[in-house]
Amino acid sequence: MHTITIVGGGPAALAASLVLSRSCRKPVVICGDLTVEAPEVSARERIAASWTKLKDFGAEVIPERAIAVSQLESGAFSLRLSSERILRSRALLLCTGITEKPPQIEGIHELWGTLVHSCLYCHGWEVQGEPLAVIGHGDRGAHLAIRARGWSHDVTLYTDGAQPSASLITDLTNLGINLQSAPVLSVDKAPTGLNVTTKSSTAEHRCMFVVPTVRQQSNLAEQLGCRMRHVEELDLAEGAVATDTAGQTSVRMVFAAGTLVDPTLRVAGAEGQGNIVAIATNEELMRAGFLY
Ligand SMILES: Cc1cc2nc3c(=O)[nH]c(=O)nc-3n(C[C@H](O)[C@H](O)[C@H](O)COP(=O)(O)OP(=O)(O)OC[C@H]3O[C@@H](n4cnc5c(N)ncnc54)[C@H](O)[C@@H]3O)c2cc1C
Repeated sequence: MHTITIVGGGPAALAASLVLSRSCRKPVVICGDLTVEAPEVSARERIAASWTKLKDFGAEVIPERAIAVSQLESGAFSLRLSSERILRSRALLLCTGITEKPPQIEGIHELWGTLVHSCLYCHGWEVQGEPLAVIGHGDRGAHLAIRARGWSHDVTLYTDGAQPSASLITDLTNLGINLQSAPVLSVDKAPTGLNVTTKSSTAEHRCMFVVPTVRQQSNLAEQLGCRMRHVEELDLAEGAVATDTAGQTSVRMVFAAGTLVDPTLRVAGAEGQGNIVAIATNEELMRAGFLY
């Protein structure tokens, strides 16, 4: 029986694993795929080096996916891994993240991560002052276009046939944002950016920001019956895992940190939350009498 098992291979899991290892907990980390969508090569290198270092502090890192989880009568948890190996643990810390997908428009998928992005805070600086396209339905698209106005005076919002509310249209007009309501047919690479083609026109932009579809990467929290919460501003069908500020979910001894809890977190935020929740988890284990 392990005391604490962390599920996840992103920044939240890494930060949490470092804290719990250095608290002499010998955590097991079911890390899945270690790819992180991080900003610069230096950040990715720092993260990769930390995963290697983790073993020096006594963590056991298992590069598999956790497929199923259940709670035993004793209150402990049983995890089934992709290799069919079964692990038992007194507490779980879920850091399984979310995935983002761009809208289903011809050509967009190929440019995702290079010319098509979802986050201005991650990718806005490099294209400041340039002609920016935003694709997003209704009010969510309008809010993203208004945010983009902070990076560039030249913003075009493609609503793809789904108009925002009247008051937001007024805000867009006042900010000088160009509104295109015709359905978008395709997006393709252009000499200095990308072309957006609607039924009536083709226009070139430096790059594009979209309102993505967001999904939980794993349903382990749901399998455990953890309460989920609706996230108003996102298209996230399952919702986010509800926790208190210490990362405690509605199921005792199941903790969660990272984007599965707060989908708006970036790398630094996920790391910070992983750190905070790991400390709270260690304290809770101590209160429950599990000193090591
Ligand atoms: C296209 C794109 C570009 C981005 N660019 C930036 C950027 O430039 N700067 C920035 O700060 N942020 C960026 N982000 C956001 C950043 O990637 C996230 O904020 C961050 O990775 C969240 O960390 P996390 O640990 O919560 O989740 P994740 O990084 O998503 O990690 C989740 C981990 O859990 C693992 N996992 C899931 N299910 C299981 C399971 N059942 N068993 C085992 N393991 C499992 C996954 O393999 C993964 O390793 C970007 C995101 C995307 C999608």
